[in-house]
Amino acid sequence: MVAVRVAVVGGGPAGLVAARELASSGFEVTVFEEDEVIGRPEHCAGLYSVSGLRRIAGLERRFLLNAIRGAVFTSVRGSTFELRFPHPVAVVADREELDRHLAEQALSAGAEIRLGTGVVGVRRGMRHSVVTKEGSSEFDAVIVAEGMSRRLTRSLFGDPFGRPPLPIAQFLISRHGLERDKVYVWFERYLDEYFSYAVPIDEELARVGLACRRNVMELARRFLKERFPEARVLGHYVHSIWLDGPASVGLDGSVVLVGDCAGQNKPLTGGGVVVGGLCALAAARHVAVLLNEGRDGTYRRLVRGIYRDLNWTKRLRDWASRRIDPSDVVELAAEAGLDDVLRRVGDMDMHFRTLLMSLPNPRGLMFLAGLIRSLLV
Ligand SMILES: Cc1cc2nc3c(=O)[nH]c(=O)nc-3n(C[C@H](O)[C@H](O)[C@H](O)COP(=O)(O)OP(=O)(O)OC[C@H]3O[C@@H](n4cnc5c(N)ncnc54)[C@H](O)[C@@H]3O)c2cc1C
Repeated sequence: MVAVRVAVVGGGPAGLVAARELASSGFEVTVFEEDEVIGRPEHCAGLYSVSGLRRIAGLERRFLLNAIRGAVFTSVRGSTFELRFPHPVAVVADREELDRHLAEQALSAGAEIRLGTGVVGVRRGMRHSVVTKEGSSEFDAVIVAEGMSRRLTRSLFGDPFGRPPLPIAQFLISRHGLERDKVYVWFERYLDEYFSYAVPIDEELARVGLACRRNVMELARRFLKERFPEARVLGHYVHSIWLDGPASVGLDGSVVLVGDCAGQNKPLTGGGVVVGGLCALAAARHVAVLLNEGRDGTYRRLVRGIYRDLNWTKRLRDWASRRIDPSDVVELAAEAGLDDVLRRVGDMDMHFRTLLMSLPNPRGLMFLAGLIRSLLV
């Protein structure tokens, strides 16, 4: 019998989750990764919901660095809104170790991982050709999980996004002086599309950063100087994040997109490991159904709920960003006691759902009334 072969382009979390699932279902899976080492270069703050990470990777001691029980949001005027949970709701992970763990899971399920092998093209056909510098090979299905580079995404699907991703600068610092079990968000006067943040790794180390379209390094240095005058910088890099919602292409047939290249990121934070991982589970299921039974449409159906949340969150953010100052939201949330509601209904991954579930109760309504008042004045 001829083996049914699936190529996965990209050995980040989205590609590795898809590869693991398909190899476990008995397909012959090859992961192409252009870098020599899985998980490098690092590009993540490593903050994931406990529930989401459990679903895509499991919770393994080897990559868990810290447990997060709360968040502090600070407005430009210095007032704060604090959320505190009785138990950890998020974890900080060693991202390189997490990716290595996913790679080992994929390998034990039977996948092959070709490191240092960049894919330069994918040619569609009865079987698809995956082209590398060494030559080309034939596959029955291709999962493109190339991250933010989106080179193959564009060559296969045109430009489904329209505008470039948002540059982000992240620093590893010591002597942060923050509480280790909280993450911190500051709305800064000089940032309009995003915020600055700190994610503690332990009492000593934290990942801190900010995102903006122009002068990202200059503003990041200003943020460091103002918020962490005592800190020592141990490293930094500039990468990019996506806040503009998922692409509606790459969800059908035997060439599909997953992860950052599909825009599977949360529109409020750019976080994409859990959302991309959940979509990768759906993509793998889709490919298995298509290749085994000839039925299309599974991926689109399985991600409908996630996509609805991402698209509505994006629409709401775009609408609100033209009308409401995020610092007012911080202050109104504190005034209305919204922490009490979010403790009960908060979902770190599905933001629109969280908002919908927060409103139908007295504190949620108080918050909404405050927002409406601030829109009218
Ligand atoms: C500073 C920063 C902080 C972040 N913090 C968080 C966070 O706290 N939580 C969170 O959930 N998300 C966070 N994110 C987003 C998160 O890192 C991404 O959503 C996630 O890495 C997406 O996974 P992926 O597998 O789609 O892509 P990637 O992780 O980018 O993996 C893509 C892989 O494909 C490989 N590749 C690309 N092109 C080719 C090719 N042609 N051939 C072969 N291989 C190729 C790349 O080398 C790479 O290994 C952050 C991002 C940044 C930049």
